[in-house]
Amino acid sequence: MIVTLPDLDPRNYSMSSLKPEFRVLPREVPMHNDSQINLLGLTRAQLTEKLSEFGTPKKQLNMRTSQIWQWLYVWGVNNIDAMTNLSKKYRDELKKNFVIAPPELVSRQVSGDGTRKYLLRIEKNHEVEAVYIPDEGRGTLCISSQVGCTLTCSFCHTGTQRLVRNLTSAEIVGQIILARHDLEDWPVPGVSTNRNRAITNLVLMGMGEPLFNFENVRDALNITMDGEGIALSRKRITLSTAGIVSQIARTAEEIGCLLAVSLHATTDQLRDKLVPINRKWNIQALFDALRSYPRLSNSERITFEYVMLNDINDREEDAIRLVDLIKGIPAKVNLIPFNEWPGSQYRRSSHKRMQKFAGIINRAGYASPIRTPRGEDILAACGQLKSQTKRHRLR
Ligand code: SAH
Repeated sequence: MIVTLPDLDPRNYSMSSLKPEFRVLPREVPMHNDSQINLLGLTRAQLTEKLSEFGTPKKQLNMRTSQIWQWLYVWGVNNIDAMTNLSKKYRDELKKNFVIAPPELVSRQVSGDGTRKYLLRIEKNHEVEAVYIPDEGRGTLCISSQVGCTLTCSFCHTGTQRLVRNLTSAEIVGQIILARHDLEDWPVPGVSTNRNRAITNLVLMGMGEPLFNFENVRDALNITMDGEGIALSRKRITLSTAGIVSQIARTAEEIGCLLAVSLHATTDQLRDKLVPINRKWNIQALFDALRSYPRLSNSERITFEYVMLNDINDREEDAIRLVDLIKGIPAKVNLIPFNEWPGSQYRRSSHKRMQKFAGIINRAGYASPIRTPRGEDILAACGQLKSQTKRHRLR
């Protein structure tokens, strides 16, 4: 059972009325043994295949797949018994072989600005974080693709975490499912529709490098985009990469979502230090791949993320070089004020610096918003994610 804590509707949050909170939720252990298959995270084709394997007659396969899919992804049900348009006998059969096992919600923190950070426990006692960011008329869920990260970007907290493993597609979709439970973002049959959704956008900007976990991320996003389920449009999903060049064309072909690139520096010398994957695929290689990103067009710009580090990458000449680099690419540049974390070696650029920097990019014809950090009081802002259960448990 998922416990919903009493609080404000995130769609009407007010900056002043919410105090940061931290709650440890009761532990939920899904009934799940190794011989049972998790229905969550299977692609449609895999679901059909599994149903067939476990005895669903061939001529029922399409219908059963559709019915189960809708229960999982339109209605967000937690157990097979809730699938009431399936006969009791068929449900009992299903229950022998299948289970619905989302990650376990360990804790939730709510920031003074309404941002929510979820700590989730996944198999083998690993933990990942997801963040919900409410905004005027929209709500963005930021999800993780790996436990930890191998990239070791020098300004990012997640990179200091030792343990790394890829999330399964169930664990990736599961983050969306759990956030929708918490936000009461499922339609209620006969009561509410799902037009006014809490989660309208999805970004893969949490822990991990999504393109180092390509297949699972692809499957999870294809499930999320499926029109008969969660049905988020590919144009509302942004995948952020540090520049795994070998997977960029595939991202367009097999997923088709929007792309964000963590650029952060305009010379190889500096980028080698800030984003070490640059030593494998340098700026030239990265931009060659981006220029041929199959979906490049004005309506589908590439977002460049650029963290503003005081005296490191925030000078005028950096901005000028940046404009040169992106020339000819339909692009937008998100300037991210550096978010500090315990032990970080950098400082945030001054507001004046950031404005000057933004001005140069702007005058060259590119949008260059300075992002407002969200959820800083709960360490939920960009680059601050790192499971902190231990610390909280000690308190
Ligand atoms: N690995 C992917 C996904 C992570 S996205 C990627 O690199 O794109 C998280 C974004 O926040 C990245 O752009 C990352 O570079 C940025 N970031 C990391 N640490 C940060 C910090 N301390 N302050 C601001 N932005 C940070």
